[in-house]
Amino acid sequence: MRYLVITLALFAIACGGSVASTPSPGSEGQSTPTQAPFRAVMVAQQPITPSPTPSASPVPINHPPPYTIAIEAGHGGLYYWGASSRDTDGNLWIEKDLALAVALRVDELLTEAGYNSVLIRSQDVTLTYWDAASYRPSLIRETQERVRVANESSADVLLSIHFNGWGDASQHGTEGYCNPDRSFGTESCQLTSLVQQALVAAIRGSGYDITDRGIKNDGLVNGDPQNQHSFILGTNSNFSPSLMPGTIAEVLFLSNPDDLAFMRRADAIDVIARAFVEGLNQYFAWLNNH
Ligand SMILES: [Zn+2]
Repeated sequence: MRYLVITLALFAIACGGSVASTPSPGSEGQSTPTQAPFRAVMVAQQPITPSPTPSASPVPINHPPPYTIAIEAGHGGLYYWGASSRDTDGNLWIEKDLALAVALRVDELLTEAGYNSVLIRSQDVTLTYWDAASYRPSLIRETQERVRVANESSADVLLSIHFNGWGDASQHGTEGYCNPDRSFGTESCQLTSLVQQALVAAIRGSGYDITDRGIKNDGLVNGDPQNQHSFILGTNSNFSPSLMPGTIAEVLFLSNPDDLAFMRRADAIDVIARAFVEGLNQYFAWLNNH
């Protein structure tokens, strides 16, 4: 287990509410805290300036174990919340928190299983300065730093963990994203498919008959090739791409009452985390027989 040392002091304050602005299925989109009971002062002691990826050489993925997994818990910090929803008891469920909880558990399980695990974030933070008044540049800067960490660790896989949300609460289910048109497209989409199948099987096996929404091309989210999904898997100009197979998992819709009811269960985080590990195990088994 290897934790990224966070040098940027961001104070994580869970407060207020958040609604996804206009996300669409498969992309919880940008969300902005809409209620701020108090104003927090954010002090960046040593702002990190993302540096270009040192080498554009892809990670050699065909090698014996141990394998290294870079785990990216989606979102984080004061302004980058992702999707969120209130349950019937009024509790607020926020994507950044759930993604981190799952990531921490995946990290434990991977370490137990003999993987090298790298948590791209291990706290409720962003790795770079986040300008709340400038969402997209902040997002690109942050994503570039997350990709840089994955590249620096020479990870065999970049696993990006997200939860979905949409204005239409009827949208529900599990979906995965890969980019078949970039380097490692075959591996990325096989990984995404196996993770997707593992998630659906595990959640169904635990008693909730979640919908399988299948896997999608992250380069086509919202019909926008410059969408945020495509940055983490790397196809955009003026962006140093990730150098290994990667996948984005949108585990379920926080905005859907049935999906959220599963998420409220005490075992949900563990069920999901174990499914990720199972999917990774199957991916490397496939890779070695490919
Ligand atoms: Zn997300």
